[in-house]
Amino acid sequence: MIQPHESAQLLSAAHFAAVKHSQQRRKDVEASPYINHPIEVAQVLAIFGGVSDTALLQAAILHDTIEDTQTSAEELDLRFGPDVRKLVEEVTDDKSLPKAERKQLQVEHAQHASERARQLKIADKICNVREIGRSIPQGWTRQRCIEYFDWAERVVAGCRGPNLKLESHFDRILQESRNRFAPEA
Ligand code: ZN
Repeated sequence: MIQPHESAQLLSAAHFAAVKHSQQRRKDVEASPYINHPIEVAQVLAIFGGVSDTALLQAAILHDTIEDTQTSAEELDLRFGPDVRKLVEEVTDDKSLPKAERKQLQVEHAQHASERARQLKIADKICNVREIGRSIPQGWTRQRCIEYFDWAERVVAGCRGPNLKLESHFDRILQESRNRFAPEA
């Protein structure tokens, strides 16, 4: 059972992320509120990965705050402690680098990341692959979607090991999403 204080920690992370992402939208056709994504990543970890580690679930909810909002690592440290802050930092890209390089670094860094960060990365890719499989993001071509699936598969290849349930869920979602993009038989 989750103790009340752990529930409170999770809700604080959800509230913090909701405020930080409040002006952002996803790239899907409905332009969904951005916050739907980090909440879904935490939910996938808990439901499909069986994760009950509160710091890891908080980090999932907060995983895009440093990268995509005005949030510093210090701010996360102060509010949620060094454990959560370090996990979020582990899954944060260096935005000063060109996009192609960042994508390549995600593949290379995955295998050196901690077991917790690797699980978070798999859950993040599950959510993105599923979302793209359901509807092509605004401004994307089919080819770009197919390339995203290939790239996500390479990142997840480096994350395998700590959570087999999550891995097999990723494999299933990837297959389903690829099937939707397969040329008509
Ligand atoms: Zn994400």
